[in-house]
Parts: sequence; C-alpha cells; structure tokens
Amino acid sequence: MDLKSGSTFWSIKNGLIQNFPCVSDDLEADVLIIGAGITGSLAAYELARHGHKVIVVDKRPVAYGSTSASTALLQYEIDTHMVDLAKQFGEENAALAYKSCIEAINKLQTIATQFNDVEFIRQKSLYTTRKKPHLKDLRDEFDMRAKHGIDVEWLDEEALRKQYQLDDTYAGILSSDAAIVDPYRFCHRLLDDVIKHNGRVSARTRITHIDRHEDGITAHTEDGNRIRAKSVIIACGYESQNHLSQKYAKNRSTYAIVSEPILPSLEASVLPEVESSPRIDHFLQHTLYWETARPYPYIRRTLDGRILFGGEDDYIDIPAKRDALLSRKTRKLQKAFATRFPNLPFKLAFAWAGTFAETKDGLPYIGRNDETGDHVYFLMAFGGNGIVYSLLGSEIVRAQIEGREHELSKLFGFDRCDMISR
Ligand SMILES: Cc1cc2nc3c(=O)[nH]c(=O)nc-3n(C[C@H](O)[C@H](O)[C@H](O)COP(=O)(O)OP(=O)(O)OC[C@H]3O[C@@H](n4cnc5c(N)ncnc54)[C@H](O)[C@@H]3O)c2cc1C
Repeated sequence: MDLKSGSTFWSIKNGLIQNFPCVSDDLEADVLIIGAGITGSLAAYELARHGHKVIVVDKRPVAYGSTSASTALLQYEIDTHMVDLAKQFGEENAALAYKSCIEAINKLQTIATQFNDVEFIRQKSLYTTRKKPHLKDLRDEFDMRAKHGIDVEWLDEEALRKQYQLDDTYAGILSSDAAIVDPYRFCHRLLDDVIKHNGRVSARTRITHIDRHEDGITAHTEDGNRIRAKSVIIACGYESQNHLSQKYAKNRSTYAIVSEPILPSLEASVLPEVESSPRIDHFLQHTLYWETARPYPYIRRTLDGRILFGGEDDYIDIPAKRDALLSRKTRKLQKAFATRFPNLPFKLAFAWAGTFAETKDGLPYIGRNDETGDHVYFLMAFGGNGIVYSLLGSEIVRAQIEGREHELSKLFGFDRCDMISR
C-alpha cells in the first residue's frame, strides 16, 4: 500500500539518520514487533526498557510509513468530542480516555526530553468554531472538560478578536496540554535506545505470514528467514487491518503543506514561556490551532519557524486518486490559510498527501483479537491524535503481555461495543 506521496517534510529534513540491517538469519526474541513507525518504536522502547528482548522489523526504511507524513500535533483531544464519547460509553469512560491522553503527552515529554533533539515543544491548543450553529456544542464540550478538571479556558468572539486577531470566529476552547514533535527523528531515537537495551531493529524486511503455536509464534520473512517469539505485536499502521478479516476503520486521505520559515526559530531544548501578545505570529508560536468543522483544518509551527497547515481530508481510499489531487488540495489549503491569517505571508515549501484511518467512535483498537488468538497483539492507534494513542497502546500491550490488567484495555479493545450505554 502506498501510504503517502509528495515531499514529506520530516524525511527530507532529516535524511537517512541511521541504517538498520535487514534480517538475514533465523532469530528468536520475547516479542516481535512488526512495524518501525512511531507506534512500533514506542512499544519496542516500553518493552525493551522493562526487560523484554524485542526484535522490530519493517518492510520499509525505519519511520518511512505514515510516521514520516505525520504533522505530529500531540493533543489530548480525541476526534470525537468528550460529550459524544460520554453518550456512547458513559461520562466516566469519556473522562478516562481524555485524561489518559493528557497523561500520555506528559509521558511523551519525559521520553523525548532524554533524547534532547527530537523537537518536542510544549504548546497550547486552541479549538475554535467559525460556524455559529456549532457554538452550543462547543460550550457543552468546554463545560464537560472543565467539570472533569481539564485545564481549559473559554474564549469568546471578542477575546479571540482582541487577543488573537481572529475574525469570523465565534468562540474557542484554549487548552494548556499539547505539544509538537519531529516524529521521524523521535522514531529513530527510540529505536536507537531499543538497541542499547538488548533489542534488534531491522528495516527492509517484510513479514509474509505468521504461524501460531501453543507457546508463541513464528513469523516468516520474504527472504525465507524465521523469527520465533512468545508474542507478536502488529504495529503496521494502516496496513494492520490486512491481518484481520473484519474492517475496524475506514481509510481516508489527508493533505498537508509547509511554509518557508516565517516565525522566529526556537531552540530545541527550550520549552517556550511566551507572554501573551496581541500579535498573531506570537499566538501561532506557542499554540496549535484547529476548528470544529469536519474535516477540520489544523496548524502547528516547526522549530525553524515554518507553518504546517493540514486538512482537506476526503473519503478517497485509492492512493493514485489521492495523489492526483495533491496540487488542487495544496491550492485549497493555501487559500484556507490566507482566509484565516491574511497578515501572515505563507510561501509554500513542501506539500504531501497521506492515508489515515478513522474509527467510528474515534478510539483506537489495541490488544488481543479473538480471530488471531493468544500471543498476537494489535496496536492500531487510529485517529487524529494517533501518536498519543501509540504511547497509551505501548503501555496497554506491555501490561497484557505481562498478564496484568490495564484500565484502558476494555475501552480501547476490540470488544468495547459491550460497553456502549443503551
Ligand atoms: C498527513 C497526516 C497527518 C497526521 N497528523 C497527525 C497529528 O498531527 N498528530 C497525530 O498524533 N497523528 C497524526 N497522524 C496520524 C499518525 O501519523 C499516525 O497515527 C502514526 O504515524 C501511525 O504510526 P504507525 O507506526 O502506527 O504507522 P506507520 O508509520 O505507517 O508504521 C507502520 C509500519 O509498518 C510497516 N509494515 C506494514 N506491514 C508490514 C509487514 N508485513 N512487514 C514488515 N513491516 C510492515 C510499514 O512499512 C510501516 O513503516 C497523521 C497522519 C497523516 C497521514
């Protein structure tokens, strides 16, 4: 499957950071992880750091799937409003999901800070509405988040105009828990750490099929090598669904553009404390921006002062069709940016298209599936905040492999439909 096309910013900026050799022998481990994107890398990091011997394999170069296309806004905000999640799973579960995502951002910060060069920067997140009919839902959403202790501030039309110079914007929720990262570099650093903890990482090694035994699995590579392990984690991104007969998510296409640098650059090691300022460029310096419209447009900065603007999602599931639209979508994104921020000169530097997957309820699918039975764990961190889910997924799967309960196992598991409130 062709996961992306165009010039993805992170892989161009970083180049080939490190080479990971193919598998050229039969191997054995406690846990085999298929997929060396951000999901597989976080899982490998979590397991290797807790004494499990892991092998990670990827048919592509490391981090070269969806991870290199990711815009990597780290948000606790799930694509489904907390209010809507509460209607399906109850308010307590909705709060658990949202608050776990906040905790995940903090944990990602702890991990990223050790590496020091993955451009992890703490941000605020501003969720606005430019559609009057969405105002009541946004207010209800604010009230529920505030009720559960999430650090949110309500901004009305006047505040948005005066403090943020945002016109045609009726209201917004400003959250203090958000961040950005360079996902490609982060992935490489995580895998580096896995190797230091007795793990092994191989790129350009495709797993063709998996045999299951009573005490584990044997995975077969395209070149005829075998990897035996007690457990296997399927962290194949949007290709994970190929391992199951039932479809749990629908593939979509999304588009992103990056400008030449227009904001002041930030030092990687500094978590900025920017005073509030009425200037629009100061606001985008430390705040992620997105809207209630679906599909939603979203904005973040990069360390070197570029603006990254994404959105224009559509239902296209055929990569060639998606790619044919890239020029048109690029123009639409440029226009949408200019409408919102007419004073910021967006000069196009990079543009790309990528596949992503959406679940009905906005939650990921993590853990064991009845169809594939014991020893096989899925890490399908689908959703707009996929990277945050990947972190949570790594903890859930480690708990399951170690025979422990995890409080999110059920809500993020394959049989969560049993929990739906009636
Ligand atoms: C344009 C775009 C913007 C996004 N923006 C955000 C965002 O702002 N914030 C956010 O949190 N998320 C975002 N996402 C989602 C996020 O990027 C994904 O959740 C994340 O990258 C998925 O990582 P992954 O490791 O699961 O998948 P991938 O990075 O695709 O990694 C899976 C790997 O599995 C390998 N693989 C598959 N099958 C096999 C096999 N048989 N044998 C060996 N290897 C195999 C693939 O080669 C691939 O490298 C965005 C996604 C896109 C496309």
